Amino acid sequence: MILIFLGPPGSGKGTQAKMLAEKKGLPHISLGDILREEVRIGTEIGRKAKVLMDAGKLVPDELTIELTRRRINQPDCRNGFIIDGFPRSMAQAEALTAMFAAQKLNLDKVIYFRLSETEAVKRLLSRAGIEGRADDNEAAIKTRFEVYEKATRPLIDYYQQTGKLFEIDAAQTIEQVFQSAFSGL
Ligand code: ADP
Repeated sequence: MILIFLGPPGSGKGTQAKMLAEKKGLPHISLGDILREEVRIGTEIGRKAKVLMDAGKLVPDELTIELTRRRINQPDCRNGFIIDGFPRSMAQAEALTAMFAAQKLNLDKVIYFRLSETEAVKRLLSRAGIEGRADDNEAAIKTRFEVYEKATRPLIDYYQQTGKLFEIDAAQTIEQVFQSAFSGL
């Protein structure tokens, strides 16, 4: 089973992806986590990405596309995976579609986490106190939403046209979202 989780920052994609991945025994691929790990261990990719991530901007498409290609080719992905935080731009979406076609992989569903910006910002600011992520401050959050609107929102239409988009109300509690979206999976 191959699932893509799409939605604004703070919509709970990562939390739900982790929970569902555990339930289904599938890898959870989080581009944000992969990039933060590159930063942590101080690779060249990490050095390039850090400034952009801290500012709330996207890191270059070539980079995230290559990291994704490498990750989904790992043996643990052969029975499927849940991918969150990718694609985030039209170029990334088209590259992912091409990767799936080249490897004869079938995308099952794209889960779109619908949440208002007001609610999402509230969550990110409260998370800031707990996790201390460098990009959970007001300036970076503002940029992340601008980037989301401009680069990522068009993907809702892109996937709607494939008939694979499923929308969920991400304003519910963690348990309610999980129950209503994934109890049948
Ligand atoms: P959130 O969804 O809360 O913004 P993520 O952990 O998914 O958090 O992403 C954090 C940051 O990592 C993004 O703001 C961006 O800088 C970078 N990033 C993650 N995924 C991508 C991607 N697919 N393309 C470009 N940059 C990305």
